[in-house]
This record gives sequence, structure tokens and C-alpha cells, in this order.
Amino acid sequence: MRIFKFGGASVKDATGVRNLKRVLENTGSSELVVVVSAMGKTTNALEAVVSAYFKKDDSVKAAIEFSKQYHLEILKELFPNKSHGIHQTIKDFFGALEDFLTHNRSETHAFVYDQVVSFGELISTTIVSTFLNENGHKNTWLDVRSCIKTDSNYRDPRVDWQLTQELIKKSVDRKGLTITQGFLGSEVNNNFTTTLGREGSDYTAAIFGYCLDAESVTIWKDVPGVLNADPRHFSKTQLLNHISYREAIELAFYGASVIHPKTLQPLQRKEIPLIVRSFIKPEDPGTCVTKGKALDPMVSCFILKKDQVLISLSSLDFSFMMEDHIGEVFKLLHQYKMKVELIQNSAISFSVVVDNKFKRLPELLTQLKQQFSVTHYEGVTLYTVRHAKPEEIKALVKGQQVLLKQEAQETVQVVIGQS
Ligand code: ADP
Ligand code: ASP
Ligand code: MG
Repeated sequence: MRIFKFGGASVKDATGVRNLKRVLENTGSSELVVVVSAMGKTTNALEAVVSAYFKKDDSVKAAIEFSKQYHLEILKELFPNKSHGIHQTIKDFFGALEDFLTHNRSETHAFVYDQVVSFGELISTTIVSTFLNENGHKNTWLDVRSCIKTDSNYRDPRVDWQLTQELIKKSVDRKGLTITQGFLGSEVNNNFTTTLGREGSDYTAAIFGYCLDAESVTIWKDVPGVLNADPRHFSKTQLLNHISYREAIELAFYGASVIHPKTLQPLQRKEIPLIVRSFIKPEDPGTCVTKGKALDPMVSCFILKKDQVLISLSSLDFSFMMEDHIGEVFKLLHQYKMKVELIQNSAISFSVVVDNKFKRLPELLTQLKQQFSVTHYEGVTLYTVRHAKPEEIKALVKGQQVLLKQEAQETVQVVIGQS
């Protein structure tokens, strides 16, 4: 069994869907599970629907219409016959979305978010599955919510691995072709939809890989594989042919956004190779993550995270920043869902760089200020460099305001202020 994952960029238009079919023709389409994300920037568009809904303004309708028209355009190209049932099926999804918002009484943002944003993957997989079925690749559309079971911590749930494994094994036909949604699950008690965190479709592919003891998991990207730096921000990049699980976990953890950080551990556990390949050049080998040497070629890897927040704390009474203080800080960081990227402490101060993903910084700062003297910088950039050479770090920070630097054996982290 193999698992493939196609991200939003690979199915952003009709050409992308046709190209997905071409990739399957190159690789064979039996004994295969294909995990698909929402098309293009659909998740962002549906996030805008959620924001409009909570602002209670009348832009909700327009936000839904925007996403609807985008999908209908793709449908027009893939299924030119106007009376084809798929046109109505996709309209019905948008009808169901409107219905949900009309009848919803929940004020819980994360719950509503998951119910709304999940339509992206339900729609994309319906389109891809129908297109493949009618173009020589018979397949089964699987509602992943009937298999991936989670707790009810919406937007960031924990997977119930045992139950999920049982259900996946029962639901997937090992011989055939299955098309299913990335990013989605459902909570065990009431079967409400949950989402696994932004970019979570890679993780979905790993869950299937693990549960089905797959021979490999392949994620198809618009880049040749994993590069030693993000090509959107660095002009000279090198393709990494091979990465060890450990090194790949470190790179993903520090924010190399090409692989979702939760993806690798389940695969490492069963030594299932993760392959990152180009959907533009599907003949090329890409990057393989398996056991073995950290990196091939052995080069420095650069990871950049923009729009981070640096918070520095000291005690109000000049006492040392000890376990009790630090314990309190972490409790608050956890409570306000701040992802901690870097920690540095001295006798009297404690600095932390966080990703304000859930936009709860003002609440956190109010709490912290009751107990500590607080300074903070928003919009800072965090560079993490693995296996760095000193001259590379020098060149990287040249002419910029370094707010904080931390060096460990294999990893250097530098925080740069807004210029
Ligand atoms: P998907 O469509 O699967 O969600 P993403 O857009 O999330 O794909 O990820 C692919 C993008 O990740 C690439 O286009 C590239 O700009 C970016 N990227 C960031 N870091 C790296 C890296 N180290 N190697 C390759 N691509 C990277
Ligand atoms: N569609 C989701 C997102 O854009 C999940 C994914 O693409 O992996 O975050
Ligand atoms: Mg993505």
C-alpha cells in the first residue's frame, strides 16, 4: 500500500486536477490512498467566512459566494456538460454551509471554525474523485471523518490512535484506489467535525501510512523536494536528496513549512519512508526521509519564521526568575495557546519567542503584566539555522537588529527586530 498527499497548490485549478491524474498514470493507481487538501487558497477563504460570521456583519454571504464561484469555475472546465450531477452536488455543499451558519447557536469560535472550514476538503475530494472515476481511475470516496477519531479540542485535537487504526483498516480497500480528505477528523462523542491544524493534510497522510503499514508516504509539492531553505525567501537553495527522520523532525519542528511537524513521528515509529516529490516533474526522485545519515548533501539548513512575538519578563520585586515564576509563565502560554519557539533565561529575566497563531496576545500580556515586568516586540523574525557555519550567521544578520541569539551544538537561533 502507498499513500499520496496532494496539497492545495496541486489542485488549485482544473489543470491541477488533470495533472493529478497524470501523476497517477505515472505511478499506478492501485493499492493506493490519495489524501487531498482543499483547492488553492480555499481554507483561507473559508476562514474569512468564519471571521465575517463572528463579526456579525453582512459580508458572510459574499464570502461564501467567493468560494462557491471559484469552485464552479473549476467545475465548468472539468465537467463542461451543464446537466452533470456534480454541479448540483457542489452547490449543495455550499447550501449545507449556509444552513449550518443559519441554524448554529454555538458561540465557540474553534467549533464553528472546524464545521465551516472542513467544507474545503469535502468539496475538493468530491471533485477529484468524480473526475478520476470518469477518466479511467475507478475509486472510492471515503469520508475521513468516519475513520480519524479525535477528542473535542477543536482546531488542535488529539487523535485516538487505537480507534482510528481499527476504523481505517476496516474502511480502506487495500487493493483499490481510495480518495479521501486531508486535515479532517471527527470527535468521538458526537461525531462533530474537527480539523487537525493548518497544513494538517500531511499529518493525515502519515496517519493512513501508520494505520495501514504502508510501504511509503509521498507528498507531492510544487518544489523538487525538501530544500535547505525556503525558496520564497532565499535565492540560492539546494535540494536535499536524503534526510534522516531525526533531522527532518527538527527541521519541521523549527518551522520548515514544507512538512507539517506532526507528520514524521508516526512514520519513524514504523520506519515508513516519507518521500517529497514534485507534481510538476513527477519523474524526478525528490527527497527521501528514512533512517540513516542526517543529511545528504551535508549543508546548512535555514528556516525563517516571520511575524513572531518576543516577550521578555522579569519579576516585579527583583527576585530571581525561578521555577515557580517560570512554571506560571508556561501555564499562561499554554492557556492562551501560544506556540513557544525559543526560550532564554538568566537569573533575573526570562525571554520567550512565541507564534501568536490564535491571536490571543493581548489577553496573555494583560495576565503577564499582573505578575511581571513585561516588554514585548511584535512582528519579529526568527531564523533557525541547522549545522550553521559562523560566517553564514554573520552574513544572515548583517545590517539587521539582533534582539536575541542562542547557540546550541547543531542549531543557532537569531531573533531580528522589525526594520
Ligand atoms: P501544499 O500545497 O502541499 O500545502 P505548501 O505550499 O504548504 O504545499 O508547501 C510547499 C511550499 O513550501 C513550497 O512552494 C515552498 O515555497 C515552501 N517551502 C518552505 N520551506 C521549504 C523547504 N525547506 N523546501 C521546500 N519548500 C519549502
Ligand atoms: N487545507 C488545509 C490548510 O490549508 C490543510 C492543508 O492544506 O494541509 O491548512
Ligand atoms: Mg499547504
